[in-house]
Amino acid sequence: MERLLFAGIDEPGLDTLEVYERRGGYQALRRALQMTPEAVLHELEESELRGRGGAGFQMAKKASFLPKGSMDKYLCCNADESEPGAFKDRELMQKNPHQLIEGVVIAAWSAGINRAFIYIRGEYVLQADILDAAVAEAERAGYLGERILGSEHTLSLVVHRGAGAYICGEETALLDSLEGKRGNPRLKPPFPANQGLYQGPTLINNVETLSAVPHILAMGGADYARLGVANSTGTKVVSVSGHVQRPGNYEIELGIPSREIIYGLAGGPPEGRAIKCWFPGGSSAPVLTAEDLDLAYDFDSMAKAGSMLGSGSIIVIDDSTPIIDVALKVAKFYRHESCGKCTPCREGTNWTVTMLERIDAGLATPMDLDIMASVQDHIIGHCLCVLGDSMAMPIGSMIAKFRDEFEAHMEAARHSSPLGTAPPDTAPALIQGAV
Ligand code: SF4
Repeated sequence: MERLLFAGIDEPGLDTLEVYERRGGYQALRRALQMTPEAVLHELEESELRGRGGAGFQMAKKASFLPKGSMDKYLCCNADESEPGAFKDRELMQKNPHQLIEGVVIAAWSAGINRAFIYIRGEYVLQADILDAAVAEAERAGYLGERILGSEHTLSLVVHRGAGAYICGEETALLDSLEGKRGNPRLKPPFPANQGLYQGPTLINNVETLSAVPHILAMGGADYARLGVANSTGTKVVSVSGHVQRPGNYEIELGIPSREIIYGLAGGPPEGRAIKCWFPGGSSAPVLTAEDLDLAYDFDSMAKAGSMLGSGSIIVIDDSTPIIDVALKVAKFYRHESCGKCTPCREGTNWTVTMLERIDAGLATPMDLDIMASVQDHIIGHCLCVLGDSMAMPIGSMIAKFRDEFEAHMEAARHSSPLGTAPPDTAPALIQGAV
């Protein structure tokens, strides 16, 4: 299997410029600087690289939205990796920071950008330190700063540490945070490509997306597009966690069967256990079941199955875990991380947790499951950013696919509850406070 971003990732010292250069590092940048920005952008277009942060938008298209001209433009690398189940960017930054820096410099050249930031989540202290050291090395070697390698390209790069809020991974909240404000999502439009950081045109890309850029320049966009499958080209680093025997990050070609990742690479669930469900794209993706294991792991196949590839983070849940526990864990996370700016998310996440706790305690009725499913439907698409949907989509999918288990759990809990049966009018009372 082709490995690009993870090729030699465990080589000692790869985080230093010396080893990175010995392995051919910064050659792609030299090549890019001999090309026009338009020609570099063309290579990225040819590669059909889709963003690896979650939305899956084509990187070159995003870059092409930036207005031409000499105004101040910015590049922000989104390194606020906070989605439960995602830990690929952490390893990429920790073990191969120059690969990311080289990608940033090339991408900035293609879009006429002179100021770049890597916004890294606050908890990634080690990775931020490593990046700071790598940026300093790159500056000393002339890969960053004024007239890079004698070319017309000038770029400053600052590593900015966030303070640990999940919502700052949302691109406009990230921009507010970078400007020194509270990290709240902005109304869109205007989109960052037109009005982003400091009101200037801004290109925002994920760590893995930018780390792929040197490889695209090195091998050519058309050759890169031959990897993977149509509409999901290239390789992808997949984080696999949960009930698997070999959790970790694996670089795959997009389009291989999901079973090959979960069982072949990650070893499948422990002996004697079966898969109950799995999140194909982090905790915000609707869950799939064991029946979906033979689906191709790519953007379109996951969408067709009613879920999403997202950040490419697979979480496996085996049959030892009650689905109510999974639902509660997910809902509590998003309730905690909701910024509170819009009502469907702020109230909906809190109400969902309350209802799940009632189900868990045997104080709900089967009708409450219908109400819960309908509330999730009313959250999806009605929030200012995707955080509300990120809770509603997986919870809705769990209710749809595991309704029998929820009902059985309610029944069992009701009989063991010291309160006996649930008062019939409690659900409507709660609904009054719902969205
Ligand atoms: Fe804030 Fe949630 Fe609304 Fe996003 S959806 S703006 S996180 S309240």
